Amino acid sequence: MAIKIGIIGAGPAGLVTALALEAYCKSTEKVEITLLDKNQSAMDYPGVEYGIQARACLALKQIGIKEKALACGLNTFRISFFNARTNKKQKFGVATNPDLTVTVLRQEFLTELTNLLSHTKIHRQCNVKSIQASPEKVNVFCEGKDGKNEVFDFDVLIAADGIGSIVRKDYFKHENYIHNRGFSCLYMLIELPNDAPNEFKEAANTGECLLVLGKSTTATFFPMGKNRFAVGIGFDEQIQTEIWNLAGVNPNLTWLELDALQKQKIAELLAADCSFQDNILSKSFKWVKDWNSFKIYLWKMRDSDVATQPYNDYGNVIMIGDAAHAIMPTIGMGASLAIEDAEILGRQLAEQILKAKPNFKSALQKYSSDRVPVWKDLIARARAGAKLNFIGIRNKSRLSFGPQIPGRFLWKIIAKIEELIS
Ligand SMILES: Cc1cc2nc3c(=O)[nH]c(=O)nc-3n(C[C@H](O)[C@H](O)[C@H](O)COP(=O)(O)OP(=O)(O)OC[C@H]3O[C@@H](n4cnc5c(N)ncnc54)[C@H](O)[C@@H]3O)c2cc1C
Repeated sequence: MAIKIGIIGAGPAGLVTALALEAYCKSTEKVEITLLDKNQSAMDYPGVEYGIQARACLALKQIGIKEKALACGLNTFRISFFNARTNKKQKFGVATNPDLTVTVLRQEFLTELTNLLSHTKIHRQCNVKSIQASPEKVNVFCEGKDGKNEVFDFDVLIAADGIGSIVRKDYFKHENYIHNRGFSCLYMLIELPNDAPNEFKEAANTGECLLVLGKSTTATFFPMGKNRFAVGIGFDEQIQTEIWNLAGVNPNLTWLELDALQKQKIAELLAADCSFQDNILSKSFKWVKDWNSFKIYLWKMRDSDVATQPYNDYGNVIMIGDAAHAIMPTIGMGASLAIEDAEILGRQLAEQILKAKPNFKSALQKYSSDRVPVWKDLIARARAGAKLNFIGIRNKSRLSFGPQIPGRFLWKIIAKIEELIS
């Protein structure tokens, strides 16, 4: 009889787990994989770009899908720094390996991953409400299309349902583990028309990312290829109140409550604060067709504490990706970490599935003891990145790179020095 694996969430973590299980189990007789997601499709999500970093590229390569999965992206060869206060690009920058650093648009990347699945059954518009586990099986209770209730049962359940994970909240009963980090980022995807001037097209199609020190904000510029670029502008709560007031907008309103003109006004004020490359961002606003579209979206920055025991005592439920460790994008690592989690979990579960007597609990224990220290290190780096580069930036003289430095102890020392001199 095939082992029934259920996965909640068709984000990077859930999709790559399914792809890894398919690749490592090979035969469909041994495993039956079912993916449940509440969204209608991969497009049903506000616009976010991902910098897919080395750990994720290597994981995708291991599964044998790297080229196809990342075909929609643009390879990045350099991260440069720009100081909007002096209007100068810094001489130093960081060279990246273009083969292992790729910028993708979430929706396109997830569509590519979904298309690569061969025998996983996907149930969309399937909103998981609760789960129940016994030593023999895991029941998953969902609200399906048209409000109809559905129940699934699995031998092993993987919760890859993101930061608000229903499994973490209701089954593992973690409380107060999500934190508001006191700043927000406005993400914008700019699509250039074919007849846009060359300087815009060059910036959109060459793999050089830019980190910009604004007067009161921090911007990240990502070329996306195909005549598109994405920009994220980060600012803390004090700056938000000031900018919203300048725009004549009540700071307590949510992004979705603002009208198109108010959104445009706020974007213009933010772009002026961190103006780079001859005001390329402000100038490109004339091509924004709809300020109410999800291509322009304000994210409040939150993260979660690491789930230190992400599996249950029966050894048949495990959390991965943001469900186990939601990390801020201040080091651009969340999706990459989720992909790495997924490849490793898929490989370790497949090893058990292929055995005559699988022992999933020992696999989950080993998985957790290897992964939890990695999660804790990266969450600490992302928190340091937020403190150094996004909160109170008006009073700082430079951007920091410490949290990105390899080496678990070295980055802390460098970040501390940067904190003292910034
Ligand atoms: C503004 C922003 C910028 C970012 N930039 C980067 C970056 O540059 N690089 C990077 O690596 N990471 C980045 N991240 C982080 C990245 O988005 C996450 O870490 C990553 O998406 C986590 O993947 P996941 O699969 O664990 O969860 P998610 O991507 O959140 O996917 C969870 C899935 O579960 C589904 N789901 C949730 N609840 C239920 C339910 N009850 N029933 C059924 N389905 C459910 C959702 O519909 C979703 O499809 C960024 C995040 C944000 C917010």
